[in-house]
Amino acid sequence: RVVVGTKVDQHHVNWVTAYNMLTGIRFTVSRTNAKMDRELTAADFDAKHKFSFDITGNELTPSAKYDFKFKDYAPWVFRHLRAKFKLDPADYLMSLTSKYILSELGSPGKSGSFFYFSRDYKYIIKTIHHAEHKFLRKILKDYYQHVEENPDTLLSQFYGLHRVKIPYGRKIHFVVMNNLFPPHRDIHQTFDLKGSTVGRDYKEEDLEENPRATLKDLNWLRRNLHLEFGPDKKRLFIEQMERDVKLLQKLKIMDYSMLVGVHDLQKGNQENLRDKTLKVFQPGGDTASIDELPTGGPDTRGTLMRTPSKMENARKARELRQIIQQEKPIPMGQTSSRMPDQMEKNTMKREFLFYSDDGGFRATHDDNSPGDEIFFLSIIDCLTHYGTVKKLEHFWKGLSNDKKLISPIRPEPYGDRFISFIESVTKSPEEAARQEQAVPRT
Ligand code: ATP
Ligand code: CA
Ligand code: CA
Repeated sequence: RVVVGTKVDQHHVNWVTAYNMLTGIRFTVSRTNAKMDRELTAADFDAKHKFSFDITGNELTPSAKYDFKFKDYAPWVFRHLRAKFKLDPADYLMSLTSKYILSELGSPGKSGSFFYFSRDYKYIIKTIHHAEHKFLRKILKDYYQHVEENPDTLLSQFYGLHRVKIPYGRKIHFVVMNNLFPPHRDIHQTFDLKGSTVGRDYKEEDLEENPRATLKDLNWLRRNLHLEFGPDKKRLFIEQMERDVKLLQKLKIMDYSMLVGVHDLQKGNQENLRDKTLKVFQPGGDTASIDELPTGGPDTRGTLMRTPSKMENARKARELRQIIQQEKPIPMGQTSSRMPDQMEKNTMKREFLFYSDDGGFRATHDDNSPGDEIFFLSIIDCLTHYGTVKKLEHFWKGLSNDKKLISPIRPEPYGDRFISFIESVTKSPEEAARQEQAVPRT
């Protein structure tokens, strides 16, 4: 599997930012992991810890290449979340260590977020707006409780919330989350579905240039595609989605999408699209009116990156252990460097229903026999609070004549529309055929 994006190395404009992010994560995560596990308290949800890094190092922090400040939010909550999502602590640290290069996908869209893949492609760092950051802190308890009660939730998995700042620089907030798409499988088609048709169209003619672009609702409908699950899988999937959306409605969240990746087992991993494709996805810019704004062409600075082999990984693990030992990121008073919630390697996701078929959820027929696709499904971009959008709307109004296009729909109807759209496109091929017979398409 080839990871696509712009390689972030010493020559990249965001190298310092990326380096600081990874250094901060490695330090704070190993610091928390080194302690004996314990129950969460109410205070853990509001906790924040500030660290200063500099080139000399001090009694708290190891020396770093650059001067920067790092803030770690609710470390215990995220440690418990990572355990709930069955992440292996050592593996997490290894993937996000600054020794290894990330690839960056800058957002040309309205949100201005940047996305960084860990080198092994398992994790995504997304920079978020301050409003989203504040909002995530506010709803963290609800999110945590939901994950606890719904181990198979389809919501984005959040693994960490942090902030970096270089001297005289601006504050950069970011989350670490799961990459829905597995490193070892080609995703043949990607869709970002909201259940709306207004502006939800990726220009088909641009597909040639960018064959793996993320397509939208209208592209999905035009292809007459379905999430091909027989009755049993469909029920499980819809029920979980409804529970997830209910939480989002309660928290007055909107603008989220169902991210859908389709792996076609017939095509397998043979497809030779890589050379032509420099971007896997084009983040951002998918709200109705905002789509109409020019966003510039696809990024052609992309660099292909090879996924490390098992042997390289083993070597990296050894190196990482050395780094951790040398730099002693674990502060005084910590006697044990063993991580109490250490999991068996590579068990991640296996036991989660919707990620149990090689990281996804395999299509089934009416009779439950397996189908030809694996679907990768998650509800993403769920940190947009209705109140914030209302404020932004005021701003956008000045930019567009068509007010109706940009009026945000309230969280309740947004969620209802979302559910009914996803439900309406979830059916086995047999069910789809039966329905086509009953109501012939015109
Ligand atoms: P906007 O607010 O303009 O919609 P954004 O910057 O908030 O954009 P998202 O909507 O979160 O970005 O994501 C944009 C795209 O990035 C998605 O359509 C998808 O292709 C990809 N993406 C986002 N999250 C993930 C994830 N967890 N795994 C894989 N791909 C992802
Ligand atoms: Ca989005
Ligand atoms: Ca967004």
